[in-house]
Amino acid sequence: GSTIGILGGGQLGRMMALSAREMGYRIAVMEPKKDSPCGMTADHEVVAGYEDQDGAEELASMCDVLTYEFENITAETAVFLEEKIYFPQGSRLLQISQDRLKEKETIQSFDIPVAPYRAVYTYTELKEAAEAIGLPAVLKTTRGGYDGKGQFILEEKADIDKGWEALKGGGPFVLEEKIPFDTEVSIVLTRSVLGEMSVFPAAENIHRDGVLHQTIVPARISAKAAERAEMLARQFAESIELIGTLAVEMFVTGDTISVNEIAPRPHNSGHFTINACETSQFEQHIRALCGWPLGSTALLKPAVMVNLLGQHVEPYLQNHTSLPPAHVHLYGKDEAKSGRKMGHVTYLTENVESLLAEINASSIWKQTQLTGGQS
Ligand code: ATP
Ligand code: MG
Ligand code: MG
Repeated sequence: GSTIGILGGGQLGRMMALSAREMGYRIAVMEPKKDSPCGMTADHEVVAGYEDQDGAEELASMCDVLTYEFENITAETAVFLEEKIYFPQGSRLLQISQDRLKEKETIQSFDIPVAPYRAVYTYTELKEAAEAIGLPAVLKTTRGGYDGKGQFILEEKADIDKGWEALKGGGPFVLEEKIPFDTEVSIVLTRSVLGEMSVFPAAENIHRDGVLHQTIVPARISAKAAERAEMLARQFAESIELIGTLAVEMFVTGDTISVNEIAPRPHNSGHFTINACETSQFEQHIRALCGWPLGSTALLKPAVMVNLLGQHVEPYLQNHTSLPPAHVHLYGKDEAKSGRKMGHVTYLTENVESLLAEINASSIWKQTQLTGGQS
């Protein structure tokens, strides 16, 4: 059979690999740490840093098609590999999504709304941007941020200096309006090498401290907003000539929608698809890259996905029987740090509201830190 190479050894790679193996593919993963969540499910592990030319060479020699699960592959490595291996997704979208400024410019160039923003390179520009955009606003580093890291919310004028101090050295930045959204949603969609496109149902996302906590499907938004969200995501995918699975994160305020950011890969907010849809976002990704017709994205049952961070794993294992049974996904990470994504659970239900009431009343997800003196 053919071998799929995956750049990055995290849980997204692991879930891609598990789907790909069901379809008969072999997996080679390149990741700096041995026994990564993906590495332990792969046929070949290339233990090498993302800048390591020899590692990239070794990966190239063993695979037929390349994908990534980690967005911050250095551009040089991506371009180098693009010349060596069949890499249908290409390095262009990867480079755009690595830089919030390029990302926003690209989204806007497709006539898709984003929150008003300004590029910020200096302290003076930050003050000018705050004046122009108004407060509250969110200051974000253009590169390297995830799970709300590299961000500072400016609520009032005094926060301008605080934000600059807190993020100083991490620039350049963007300052964007803090959107008073009603709901956050994401649209996960897939486009294949044959140009076929499929869209999963809109997912409603609840974040805690900048980290995804719950995904609820169908999203509790108007039919009009859901339709518009899907339309905007399709517009982005067509315009960028997407290959593979992509997530578009959006803010919904009334029936108005603006795009927050995109992730050019399967996404945490699409994990519900593994158990709740006819085809998962991971299977769909592999189908898209390998030239299979795409599967159905139909929702089998309403779903609630809840992340298990480091501090939630023990409470979950001890108390899960007080909740309805869920589909359990643990990523095989052995170090449970606070805030680290260790796994997720997905509940399928005909009654989302009563399930949410049970989940939200449970003690399992109350903890924000690991107790017992661990980090
Ligand atoms: P991810 O892990 O999704 O890649 P990230 O670190 O790239 O996250 P964002 O998605 O930009 O960060 O922001 C994290 C969360 O912070 C958002 O999902 C949203 O809840 C909140 N947020 C970010 N920007 C804004 C904004 N302009 N207005 C209101 N809320 C915002
Ligand atoms: Mg992001
Ligand atoms: Mg985000």
